[in-house]
Amino acid sequence: MTTITRFAPSPTGRLHVGNIRTALHNFLLARKDGGRFLLRIDDTDAQRSEERHVDAIRADLAWLGLAADGEARQSQRLEIYEAAFERLRAEGRIYAAYETAQELELKRKILLGRGLPPIYDRAALDLTQQDHADYAAKGIAPHWRFRLDHDTPIAWDDAIRGAQHFDPAALSDPVIRRADGSWLYMLPSAVDDVEMGITDVLRGEDHVSNTAVQVQMFAALGAAPPRFAHEALLTGAEGKLSKRLGSTGVDEMREEGVEPEALLSVLARIGTSQAVIAMRSLDAMAAGFDLATFGRAPARFDEAEMMRINAQLLHETDYAAIAHRLPTGMDEAAWAAIRPNLETLNDAGDWWQVVTGPVPAPDLDAEDRAFIAAAAQDAQGIEWGEDAWKTLTGRLKAATGRKGKALFLPLRLALTGRGHGPDMAALLPLIGQERALERLRAAG
Ligand code: GLU
Repeated sequence: MTTITRFAPSPTGRLHVGNIRTALHNFLLARKDGGRFLLRIDDTDAQRSEERHVDAIRADLAWLGLAADGEARQSQRLEIYEAAFERLRAEGRIYAAYETAQELELKRKILLGRGLPPIYDRAALDLTQQDHADYAAKGIAPHWRFRLDHDTPIAWDDAIRGAQHFDPAALSDPVIRRADGSWLYMLPSAVDDVEMGITDVLRGEDHVSNTAVQVQMFAALGAAPPRFAHEALLTGAEGKLSKRLGSTGVDEMREEGVEPEALLSVLARIGTSQAVIAMRSLDAMAAGFDLATFGRAPARFDEAEMMRINAQLLHETDYAAIAHRLPTGMDEAAWAAIRPNLETLNDAGDWWQVVTGPVPAPDLDAEDRAFIAAAAQDAQGIEWGEDAWKTLTGRLKAATGRKGKALFLPLRLALTGRGHGPDMAALLPLIGQERALERLRAAG
């Protein structure tokens, strides 16, 4: 059976790192098996779903390279849910209830006060035809609950958490539909998973109790449940999901210069027993992807680790692969010179500006200024080739006796306006004799 997975975001906000991790893992699970990865937009909540978020989700996934093999929108599938609803209702698996939120809260409090679990008491199952007619006459519409089968224990073999068992009698019959006819997440998702032939549901462990209920929904729908895997949640490096991580959208990371492969490399491996390494392709990530390596402890997302991988990836990127993203005029030699100094590609523009100028004149003391003035004299006379830096510093060393930092730092400051940066030997031929002389004269 072909593996079919899905990523099912609700378009109520931007995707953040946790969502991306779920999307990636579903993508990799399918890719590894040569299967299919579907995007399902969970937009039954018309109030909170927004079209701009749907667009952003697609754009973010495209940027990450997580192309879906198919897309569905729940808002376009309402008749399918309606049909399932009618069927289950006719079979007595769905029932009408009328308690208000306040009444339910009161029931909960009473149970908790007695030290009992706050499970819905199924009072609505005792309503008579007449009771329903009375509510209808008063214009009160019911909400709807799925009746759990208390005689069938709930169990599944979770690909991450191992054997899972739930006593259905210890769960409340979930509300699946509101009085206004709108859907809660639970039933449409199970219906879609059946209809779309989803073989593997991989999602966060915050869904474990939903799965318990959905296992019975699959049975009620006459379908075998998919395989389930629930991954531990994501936290920041400090052990909790920082405000920044919980709210940073993929778009912000992109603006900050995070390469998709850096983000994906980290997300592919955190929370597993495998080491986080820089990976350039989704195929490389898929090859090693294995749910058996996932642990139960929260996955720690360390931004510093991601930025290290980001830099590493850039340092190993060939010019041809990145030329279209570089500042105009920046050629292969410039890329080779600047690449080792990049943390993000956003920095490339700054370093290219160091080559093309203008650069700020440094604040040198009198002694260093005299040294730079001498360097300006000297630089006029040299052959400006690949080893201009070696020639220039060699001559200045011989002439002034300066060496080490005293020799190199004033020159770097005068030539680049900065105290650190790319290898001067690589930079100087790019700056060229004319600009170099100008800068030395200005600083000397
Ligand atoms: N829309 C649900 C969510 O974002 C989907 C959960 C699922 O994967 O079934 O939490």
